[in-house]
Amino acid sequence: MWNQQRKSRLLHFAIGVFSLSLSYCATQSQPFASAIQVDLASVNWIHGAESCESLVDDSDYQEWQKIQYLPQSFIFRQNKCSHYEGPFVYLFLGKEKGLLVDSGATISGGLKLVELIRDITDLPILLAHTHGHSDHRLGDDAFRNQQGMSVIGVGSSAVQNYFGFSNWPHEPTAIDLGGREIEMLPIPGHSDDDLAFYDAQSRMVVTGDTLYPGRLYVSDWLEYRKSIIRLADWLSQKSVLFLMGTHIEMSATPNLDYPIGTTYQPNEHRLPLSLADVYILREKMEALESPERVPLGSFIVWPN
Ligand SMILES: [Zn+2]
Ligand SMILES: [Zn+2]
Repeated sequence: MWNQQRKSRLLHFAIGVFSLSLSYCATQSQPFASAIQVDLASVNWIHGAESCESLVDDSDYQEWQKIQYLPQSFIFRQNKCSHYEGPFVYLFLGKEKGLLVDSGATISGGLKLVELIRDITDLPILLAHTHGHSDHRLGDDAFRNQQGMSVIGVGSSAVQNYFGFSNWPHEPTAIDLGGREIEMLPIPGHSDDDLAFYDAQSRMVVTGDTLYPGRLYVSDWLEYRKSIIRLADWLSQKSVLFLMGTHIEMSATPNLDYPIGTTYQPNEHRLPLSLADVYILREKMEALESPERVPLGSFIVWPN
């Protein structure tokens, strides 16, 4: 049953990637070979090391891995040797400004991330967060002191006020980056200020710590349940190729997660999940009457 389901999901995913390649090439009027296209499902991310101590002092130590996806979307992963959380960070560029989602798990990593982003663009950068947990915002300070960069506070009040959510957490809102709109939906439950970010251009939705290949820590069960239903309903009206989380904690073996605190994951799960995964999660959450730890193949629901 699992294999059958997985096969059909992989087929759906492959068709989606192929059609995105074609539509991208058609709209950009560029030769096929020059289009930037990464198969996000097969990216080999930096995944720590057996012996981090000997690596981090090397002059060529890689704090962040950068992947460019289409011309104006970037994904960064922080090295698990810098922090075992190894979070992912997303950058979407419009014509007028860029939206950075999260800043990483360390203060020093934030400084390096600023440098990487300024190598990419001089546009004003707005730093928002998937949620306020420290492994997604400890790099914020490096951005606060930079010209042309602004940092949005964390906590549901700050997020609501900044973006002008009028009916939190029920209604989405959007931000215009100049010819590129990013939509945001409140999905509290892992924390009080979780947001999903949907980008129609890349057909990605960033789902933060709410849904990713790992342990889905749920602090407020009822809120989380409502958020997963809201997220699934919202995404069913979008054109989604990839659900992009902010960690990988699962191995490539279904239901097998790496222990908490692992700094070396040589056989980790691929990062992108698909729309099918949010439907699987919704079905399970609707069926459960009380908090329960539930493995679902690519992730594990994990009440705190
Ligand atoms: Zn979190
Ligand atoms: Zn996290």
